[in-house]
Amino acid sequence: MNAKQKIAEMIDAKQVQFTATADQIWGTPETRFATAESVKPFLEILDKEGFTVETGLANMEHSFVATYGSGSPVIGILAEYDALGNLSQVADLGERKAENEGGNGHGCGHNLLGTGALAGAIGIKDLMEQEKLTGTIKLFGCPAEESGYGKAFMVRDGVFDCLDVALTWHPLDTSMAWGLSSLAVYQVYYNFKGISAHAASSPEQGRSALDAAELMNIGVQFLREHIIDEGRVHYAFMDAGGESANVVQPTASLYYFIRAPKLDQAESIYKRVNKIAEGAAWMTETELEIVFDSACANYLPNQAMTTVMYENLKEFGKLNLTKEDQEYSQRYYDSLDDATKVSLITRARQMNPTVSEEEIQRLGTLPVLDNVGPLVFSSATLGSTDVGDVSWVCPTAQVFVGCEPQGTPPHSWQWVANGKSSVAHKGLLAAGKTIATTAYDLLTNPELMAKVKAEHQATIGDKKYQSAIPADVMPK
Ligand SMILES: [Zn+2]
Repeated sequence: MNAKQKIAEMIDAKQVQFTATADQIWGTPETRFATAESVKPFLEILDKEGFTVETGLANMEHSFVATYGSGSPVIGILAEYDALGNLSQVADLGERKAENEGGNGHGCGHNLLGTGALAGAIGIKDLMEQEKLTGTIKLFGCPAEESGYGKAFMVRDGVFDCLDVALTWHPLDTSMAWGLSSLAVYQVYYNFKGISAHAASSPEQGRSALDAAELMNIGVQFLREHIIDEGRVHYAFMDAGGESANVVQPTASLYYFIRAPKLDQAESIYKRVNKIAEGAAWMTETELEIVFDSACANYLPNQAMTTVMYENLKEFGKLNLTKEDQEYSQRYYDSLDDATKVSLITRARQMNPTVSEEEIQRLGTLPVLDNVGPLVFSSATLGSTDVGDVSWVCPTAQVFVGCEPQGTPPHSWQWVANGKSSVAHKGLLAAGKTIATTAYDLLTNPELMAKVKAEHQATIGDKKYQSAIPADVMPK
């Protein structure tokens, strides 16, 4: 048996520990930086497994780094465990039903992401122990990926400066290498403060914060025509003043996400949005407070490392789905609308250019997939991820593992419902094996490591990473 097969066996031998941990985190969904319960099982297991654990990195109480081994190379593995608001969902159910009305839910599969990364770190550690390999493995616990961007704060504070490379993964409804970029984003609150008054008897005494917020949104609406095509500006009302229409609303607050393919492009749009907010405050004689929440950079894929990870995904990322798994997942496939079901055939054709039309028809109707798509590198972008910031300071690679029902998007109730299933468990184990075997390649092949680093240097060129988060902004 070769070393990589041994890794896969050792991960399988501990699978109950990993899947039980994923289920435990599913049951305590927490958002942003407040991940006190979700981080606990990681700390307990890593300590028991012989890692040295340090918590509270970059002013985040529930972040950690767990270290095994010594010397170079230093390989980082990134774990996430935060959930999303208002996505509580009954497990294993084929329709939308909250388990806890208004509660949180793991709609992005980070209960799987975190434990898959954990399995990867422990898998390579077990092999290093057995084969007396030198090098260092560091598993990072990174809160607030969904909003707040823990890793962006960690990068700003130099947490990843010790790394030669970083590896991670993300659940999806299909398996492939992550060869795309992502959008840089600025997240900012615009808080307006006015003067309340009776809206009928003394409106002249009032200054409406709600008017200011509305004028800001109208101004931004006109701005959208004059930004780059790939720019994205979206918002939520955090406070609309109150529920009484007969009061001039004294407070209003907007939360903006401002995105573009590159950080400097997002910054220039952000500065223009600030001017619009200031204009709205002038027009309404209200006060404006701009509160910088967070920001993250675009992702730079490393082709050399992603290619190696992709090969490992093809070999060790098989889910070996059973008839029961397909039958289980059918409930989520049935919940899709007809247009989405039809589009899956088109996607199956794109993802599997060399297989027969008969096979494509089959793949396009399966409720869950166990094939790996082709390796594609492209400048196209997905949403935003704080893995982007990490990719600027060290070569970074990641894969998607198709452990979610086919056709269902991230941040959906279907992902929450599927989060403790046999399919989800198989996905996290496949991800762990892919990460650990890639770490093995990087630990034992100095030529590969040199190639990966040379590519990273060439990609960065003379562009120096500069965190978009101001020095005085803290995670909250
Ligand atoms: Zn996610």
